[in-house]
Amino acid sequence: MIKVARTLVELHTARRELVLQHYRERHARPLVGLTPTMGALHNGHGALIARMAAECEVGIVSLFVNPRQFGPNEDYGKYPRMFGTDLALCEAAGAQLVFAPSVEVMYPEGYATTVSVAGLTETLCGASRPGHFAGVTTVVAKLLTICAPDKAYFGEKDYQQLVVIQRMAADLNLAVEIVPCPTVRDSDGLALSSRNAYLSPAEREAAPRLHQALQQLRQHFLNGETDVQRLQALGASELNCGDGPQFALEYLAIVDPQTLAPRATAQAGDRALIAARLGPARLIDNLAL
Ligand code: AMP
Repeated sequence: MIKVARTLVELHTARRELVLQHYRERHARPLVGLTPTMGALHNGHGALIARMAAECEVGIVSLFVNPRQFGPNEDYGKYPRMFGTDLALCEAAGAQLVFAPSVEVMYPEGYATTVSVAGLTETLCGASRPGHFAGVTTVVAKLLTICAPDKAYFGEKDYQQLVVIQRMAADLNLAVEIVPCPTVRDSDGLALSSRNAYLSPAEREAAPRLHQALQQLRQHFLNGETDVQRLQALGASELNCGDGPQFALEYLAIVDPQTLAPRATAQAGDRALIAARLGPARLIDNLAL
């Protein structure tokens, strides 16, 4: 049976028991893994958890809708919460322990510390979501401190977030390996996301064009086009080529995969990233060139 910890004491006790149990049975120190999530789990999260379970003897999943990474006009209040099915998915994917703290456990009265990464967080999603990445790095730094994993699993679906967390872990000399995991998609190419639940049937049908725009852009690159302005225009025209619901493009960028610096001329290995609104949902996706 999967264990659930809601407080720091419960987490530390359950983690210690799982580590000791492994010592007793195998006479060796187990690897501890952590997969941080905001719940409303889907098979994208499932793939991260299954990878953690394959690589670590003790696997922890955190379920916490972090208020600090939502802007004042964003969807914190209506973000989907479904603890029962989340727990079942964690267990089926092979985790041993779920950490599901309250907001008060994570940010008790008097809480005053923010962890922020400069530069990398100011462009792309950071430009339209001020404070978002500081919220993410603060909660991830806390979760890494609390759970003390050897390895932590993050999806390439949130590519900028992954790069920012790798920077934070390196800069703070955190003793954790950040493990990037490939994006899991529906059969029509749409990247799985808890926010896809906001889409109407017509919007859901249009949504794969986000991925198709990136694929078209990559195809033009592979055919020899390297001018980023032209590639952006080709990708953007693909986005709203069909009838039905239209996307409002926020950005379509080609960047250095480590520094996220924008390119004028695209090179193999660069990352193409896109963010667009479709009805009530803000969707993001990315692809390696
Ligand atoms: P979230 O619950 O949306 O904060 O996501 C928790 C973790 O799951 C993050 O590391 C995400 O990048 C990752 N993730 C979310 N969706 C996907 C997906 N479709 N494929 C792979 N990883 C994902």
